[in-house]
Amino acid sequence: MTTPHAKPNTNKAQKTVRVLLPLPVGSGYDYIVPPDLSIKIGSFVSVPFGKKEVLGIVWAEGSGEVPASKLKALNRPLDLEPLPEVTRAFVDWVAGYTLTPPGSILKMVLGGQLRPLKDKDKLDFPQPDPALLTGNLTEEQTRAAEALCADVQEAAYAVTLLDGVTGSGKTEVYAQALAQCFRQGRQALLLLPEIAMTAALLGRLEKHFGAPPTLWHSGLTEKQRRLNWHAIKQGKAKFILGARSALFLPYADLGLIVVDEEHEGAYKQEEGVIYHGRDMAVVRAHLGKIPLILASATPSLETHHNVKQGKYKHLILHSRFGAAKMPQIELVDLRAEKMSAQTFISQPLFDALEKALAAKQQAMLFLNRRGYAPLTLCRACGNRLQCPSCTAWLIEHKKTSRLHCHQCGYSTKIPSACPVCNAEDKFAACGPGIERIAEEVAARLPTARAAIMASDTLDSAKGAAELVEQMDNHAIDILIGTQIMAKGYHFPRLTLVGVIDADLGLAGGDPRAAERTFQLLQQVAGRSGRAEDEGTVFLQTTQPDHPVMQALAKGQRDAFMQTEMRERQAFHLPPFARLASLTISGADRTQVVVAAQKIAAAAPQTERMRILGPAPAPYAILRGKTRYRLTIQAARNVNLSAAVAAWLAPLSLPRTLKVQVDIDPYSFL
Ligand SMILES: [Zn+2]
Ligand SMILES: [Zn+2]
Repeated sequence: MTTPHAKPNTNKAQKTVRVLLPLPVGSGYDYIVPPDLSIKIGSFVSVPFGKKEVLGIVWAEGSGEVPASKLKALNRPLDLEPLPEVTRAFVDWVAGYTLTPPGSILKMVLGGQLRPLKDKDKLDFPQPDPALLTGNLTEEQTRAAEALCADVQEAAYAVTLLDGVTGSGKTEVYAQALAQCFRQGRQALLLLPEIAMTAALLGRLEKHFGAPPTLWHSGLTEKQRRLNWHAIKQGKAKFILGARSALFLPYADLGLIVVDEEHEGAYKQEEGVIYHGRDMAVVRAHLGKIPLILASATPSLETHHNVKQGKYKHLILHSRFGAAKMPQIELVDLRAEKMSAQTFISQPLFDALEKALAAKQQAMLFLNRRGYAPLTLCRACGNRLQCPSCTAWLIEHKKTSRLHCHQCGYSTKIPSACPVCNAEDKFAACGPGIERIAEEVAARLPTARAAIMASDTLDSAKGAAELVEQMDNHAIDILIGTQIMAKGYHFPRLTLVGVIDADLGLAGGDPRAAERTFQLLQQVAGRSGRAEDEGTVFLQTTQPDHPVMQALAKGQRDAFMQTEMRERQAFHLPPFARLASLTISGADRTQVVVAAQKIAAAAPQTERMRILGPAPAPYAILRGKTRYRLTIQAARNVNLSAAVAAWLAPLSLPRTLKVQVDIDPYSFL
């Protein structure tokens, strides 16, 4: 960009900027700004990087670390408004907290690869009309809605827990806050743990506002992604409904965030950038100085704790909307039931199923386990069929007549002879998966029309919608499924829910096992009896005295939370302490073990932190890689991200190893 008359020595005056690239490297590079270009912080620019030209964002003034004479010039700015300051601040914050290169967060902001608009693209998105929302609310709902609307009007940071049982009309209440946000001409984001199963909610919201929300999730087509991203950035899309990744989009003017089902584990992203969508929503609301609504029928202990500490407000909806009553919950003590090894539906549940069918009502059987049987073993030698590349049993699926590994996706034909002792026809299926429950229903209730609902039997959102329609039309008597069907469906004729194995989630070393089991079973129970008919729920358990089962049976959520809270405090677990985990993995077992020990030996010596491990992870081998874990337990006031960063930075480890840092882990596998 030099002109014939330019003076030769212009280096001193050369302006430089630091450009962040959407790549998992460093925290940006300095580039020279050609004098004829007008560049602002946040500008989208194209820069030479290696042999390529890549897109980046002007992040800051040049750092000056590299002399200008050695720098390249940026090429040209793109015809896009600069990235908003709050979005940039959010990228930096999340990067620092999760110990992730900021470029990886920027990539999420850009929705993956930035796709420029094409000439024929039109961003005429239908606008939500707040005037269409009718206010047919109970007194309790009205009070809650007014409080939320006041926060939106205030336009300041505030977090409110909207706490109400299934069917209490939380959606109708937060819809009023969304309407207030639209009246102020600002954008609103509604986050859901999963998008695939939300057709019913989408329909309701579209009816409320006369326009469908703009979606953001992994299932969008290339074109939808491009249009939606630009409409959100330009402020032309006002109502955005998305999965956790939608939090990172560059909103032109975000005025409200709602996190529905805030307790859901699906908000935690476990791969790539490891973050918790709900927690990052709190950060985003704080940086943007906007209100945040956390909605749940079974709030997480973390959120409950923040309410107790006075950090979050608390709005409670006590009653179910309209005539609906809470279901009756019965515990079936499996130890006292005489059942054959091939039978999984107890007599009391079976009798209730017959009664419901005779009364032309619908039932749901819940078992959080896909496939036919979780374990196949050889009765001749005791060999258990295991995945060749994971520490996991192979799971028989009748639908495909194959054995599947649910960890890595490996599948194989069911062998005719045992690979260890060569005995033929000696394989036995141990325990039930939902396919096996369907088989039992077909054998014992041959006239009942049953259907299976699980993530692997539903190919698409369309498949889910069809199944929901069949339930609505009463073309199905008994729906058998995994936790996918615990999500917000409302079937008026569904009066009976049977939980095949209520104890399933309690095993293992997860400190949140009891809380999660309670939340899941409470949610499943909430499917029952949402119209005039009272619902009944049968929980089959071998631990009827367990606090989770007792709390469910007696409807004592708050008492359970208090007990659980005391346990967490006694054992220095979240929300009273902080956790982080390091997973070291690699193809060479010895290398992994040596590195894990080296990391442990370098651990900071402080009373405020305790290191557990290294120890083999519960899935000690996954996809052929050995995995070791370290868990760090720290006092609440320890800056765990900074401590772990300072701990790992000086260590040199083989490049063939991967060290995955998880701040606030939710998975302990
Ligand atoms: Zn054998
Ligand atoms: Zn596997």
